[in-house]
Amino acid sequence: MNSLKEITVTEVCPRDGFQSIPEIIPAEEKAAYINRMIECGFKQIEVTSFVHPKAVPQLKDASEVLQLVNRKPGVKLRALIPNLRGLDRAIDAGIDKVKLMLSATDSHSRHNANATTFEAIKGFEPLVQRAADSPVHVGGSISVAFGCPYEGDVPVERHIEITKRYEQLGITDISLADTTGMANPVKLKRIVEVLKETFPHFRFSLHLHNTRGMAFANAVAGYEAGIVDFDSSAAGLGGCPYAPNASGNIATEDLVHGFEEMGINTGINLDRVLEVAKLLQQRFPVQSDSFILKAGKCSDLHIAPSGQVKIGD
Ligand code: ZN
Repeated sequence: MNSLKEITVTEVCPRDGFQSIPEIIPAEEKAAYINRMIECGFKQIEVTSFVHPKAVPQLKDASEVLQLVNRKPGVKLRALIPNLRGLDRAIDAGIDKVKLMLSATDSHSRHNANATTFEAIKGFEPLVQRAADSPVHVGGSISVAFGCPYEGDVPVERHIEITKRYEQLGITDISLADTTGMANPVKLKRIVEVLKETFPHFRFSLHLHNTRGMAFANAVAGYEAGIVDFDSSAAGLGGCPYAPNASGNIATEDLVHGFEEMGINTGINLDRVLEVAKLLQQRFPVQSDSFILKAGKCSDLHIAPSGQVKIGD
């Protein structure tokens, strides 16, 4: 059981959310949202991805967006990178941390990176070497960690093998991503417990999608297994490529509200997050999905009605 009463939340909407919106959002508008997020208390924001413009045209303005962001001490900016070219662009743009993309299964990896998982991780060697000569910190990730749309369940032995390879590269900071929302609290807890036991010096974090309404339950299960770092997206932006109408990332306001209600400190100003989330919801009504935007906070008490109370269950 986790004895820490504090978690860290990384806002990923500018990358995960904006890349899943079909229209191209202007760089100025993206930066305006990021600048509002910087004022919410996040220690880290995933601002973009330095991928090939043809692969993700929505984020082709990554460097431009970075120039428009009001940097604030204590707020680290993270980006996803697929290759050396992406790393160079990220370093030039002044990114603090890069996250490498890797799939848990060969089928997903072949589809996304045109290589098996172990071939892809071997390809990270020159990136790690290049990053070592820069101030950029390198973290790893494991996509479809709790379920692959092609292969189904991912055995924990596979996670151990992948994590060993990350260890050989000197990467000890791994994001476990439930890309497809196939995790459940029991499965997730088991995998996290084994990984934390096998690699006690690693820092594992969770990137959860709410595709099947399980994300908050999964976050709590992860927390109970000792995880203290979570990703989330304001207004719940960010879809699922395998289920076009499904929810995306767990909404930041839902994650922060839920943990704060349980007495676990997030360091995030929830009202400020709600302000940004409302703006995003108005602008992208189809893609947003958030319980707290719909229901309000538990602490938003209502005036008790006078007269007879309607009986309901
Ligand atoms: Zn995601």
